Amino acid sequence: MSFNALIVEKDEDGKTHAEVRQITTDDLPEAEVLVAVEYSTVNYKDGLCIGPGAGLVRHYPHVPGIDFAGTVEESSDPRYKPGDKVVLTGWRVGEAHWGGYAQKARVRADWLVPLPEGLTTRQAMAVGTAGFTAMLAVMALEDHGLKPGAGPVLVTGAAGGVGSVATAILAHLGHEVAAVTGRPEQADYLKGLGASQIVPRTDLNEDTRKPLESETWAGCVDAVAGAMLGRVLKQMKYGTSVAAVGLAGGAAIEGALITPFILRGVNLLGIDSVMQPFDNRLRAWERIARDLPMDRLESMVQPATLADLPRLGADILKGQVRGRVVVDVNA
Ligand code: NDP
Repeated sequence: MSFNALIVEKDEDGKTHAEVRQITTDDLPEAEVLVAVEYSTVNYKDGLCIGPGAGLVRHYPHVPGIDFAGTVEESSDPRYKPGDKVVLTGWRVGEAHWGGYAQKARVRADWLVPLPEGLTTRQAMAVGTAGFTAMLAVMALEDHGLKPGAGPVLVTGAAGGVGSVATAILAHLGHEVAAVTGRPEQADYLKGLGASQIVPRTDLNEDTRKPLESETWAGCVDAVAGAMLGRVLKQMKYGTSVAAVGLAGGAAIEGALITPFILRGVNLLGIDSVMQPFDNRLRAWERIARDLPMDRLESMVQPATLADLPRLGADILKGQVRGRVVVDVNA
């Protein structure tokens, strides 16, 4: 039986084109588990995979969608049986392997995580890779000593996916959250997620050439990098950590100096969601179910369908998507 999928093709001039088409399970790649996808979402990487590819997609035609949640339909692996609710993020699904922008996906059992108690498949995709990564960042900061009451925790790229979820989790855990945004019109949205301070992007995106600045932040979840990260490192309190998640502002850490590391013992913690070991994935999803208020999660969500994806993919690459998109692949 045929079903809908967003198919990306590349023409001879290297231009890509995405549209919803009908495919069958015979078209899907070989793997152990067939999942009836219920929801997917739009991450920055999805924007790249729907559009230019950016070296992430190796073969066309391609089905993007770096994450999804749904119900197992068939499984040749004993860990999963028909009817199990599952969530998938990472493992280069939606890049090297066909992903979640289809009503069905066939994937390796190793890549799946059982949906944690208390979360629906829709909520799991309201969280998605962005929110899962935000939780990994918060866990890394906690593992390096962050405790509520230590001072404001900075979240950069706050109105984006990672930033919105990080803001909501940190505020729920009792931290004072300072949200950095280039979109002042999103101040009320960010305060609704629990931010107590809004920091304009322009306050932080230029280097001062100073070796250190006043000790201000007790922790930081950084989705931006670029000049902002170079500057923020100099403003960290003694012995604190920055969880480096993304590169929305550029891949280099411009203006970065060694001084915060050797004079203030600041840590720069790298966060990767793609190759996370299974046990840590479980731990992160369980923490999400416990520490992310679902009403605040709902306030981040805009609903979408497969047909909306070419437009939303272009929007996220321009930094124009607020919070989290939930794609109902069966709508
Ligand atoms: P979004 O596009 O939703 O959010 C990024 C936010 O960054 C924007 O909303 C904007 O926030 C801010 N921003 C955009 N451009 C700039 C700029 N030039 N300078 C400063 N700020 C900027 O993306 P996600 O939240 O989904 O992802 C954020 C980053 O994290 C991406 O680079 C992504 O690739 C990476 N990522 C990494 C993962 C990992 O495993 N390490 C997993 C998931 C994502 P505002 O408007 O509030 O300023």
